[in-house]
Amino acid sequence: MNPLFNLEELDRKTAVDTIGLTGKNILSVDQFDTELISKIFDRAREMRAMVNTVGGVDLLKGRVLAALFYEPSTRTSSSFIAAMERLGGSVIPITQGVKFSSVSKGETLADTVRTLEQYADAIVLRHPQVGAANLAGDYAHIPVLNAGDGAGEHPTQALLDLFTIREELGTLNGLKVAMIGDLKNGRTVHSLTKLLLHYNVSLRFVSPEILRMPLKIMNKVIDAGVNIRETHDVADVIENADVLYVTRVQKERFGDLAQYEEVKDHYVITSELIERAKEKMIIMHPLPRVGEIHYAVDNDPRAAYFRQVKNGMYIRMALLAAVLGEA
Ligand code: ASP
Repeated sequence: MNPLFNLEELDRKTAVDTIGLTGKNILSVDQFDTELISKIFDRAREMRAMVNTVGGVDLLKGRVLAALFYEPSTRTSSSFIAAMERLGGSVIPITQGVKFSSVSKGETLADTVRTLEQYADAIVLRHPQVGAANLAGDYAHIPVLNAGDGAGEHPTQALLDLFTIREELGTLNGLKVAMIGDLKNGRTVHSLTKLLLHYNVSLRFVSPEILRMPLKIMNKVIDAGVNIRETHDVADVIENADVLYVTRVQKERFGDLAQYEEVKDHYVITSELIERAKEKMIIMHPLPRVGEIHYAVDNDPRAAYFRQVKNGMYIRMALLAAVLGEA
């Protein structure tokens, strides 16, 4: 029988770990500093060039990612799948609601993770509970990537958001970043705020009183000495913002739906409103939007949210290659 592979040749293949994330979990933005961020961005740019020229490579051939989503997702799940496939790997997609898996029979997260690691080389997890990714990371012997843990964090989104700002505006320093909407429950703004503290930025938080940024994050902002102002009114920030980061009111995090109804349409970005914004600025949104940005705004070159979506794939390609020892 012919051998399936040549062991000597495999032995010669030395592991590359220039980014330093091989075998690591991606659980929180707290684990990133500017040096690491810049290495990930360089790799994401290489991924972009590769996709634009050849579409895909075999870097992760034979590797398997388990995509375990206990909450709905369009962009995060499909970009992780696309990222894996463009790098030659494959995916076990448990993304259509864990209702079709043994989770619906009452299997715990710990057992699900310990099962999936028998088949896969990495796990990407979205879960409604804060800290779920950390728990999965404690049990798994393979890298766990946090794709959103309740109202906690969304580190890969924050990296793609930061990358978008850098690529669109050419810098991460000297910028005024305004975040609007549900700053209390929005995990993307929690993670992005923490990442931005590494740079010389001014922050503007715009929200209704009941959706203000949590104290824990506010304290980090204050400790970092970053220039910060909170307001309820988008008119206070529209003229000076370099980045307008709009978010959805997170209906699923409200215990009292009447309260959601009260605040859900608080901010709507219209073409008239952005007439007052800078000529060189960007409007971002992690999506999905449910009315916070009028469709007419999409035609404005400053509307960066679909370009932001695409950056998600490059960043996740860079991260997957890194944790799987190919970066
Ligand atoms: N897609 C983002 C998230 O999963 C934002 C949102 O759902 O509003 O956090």
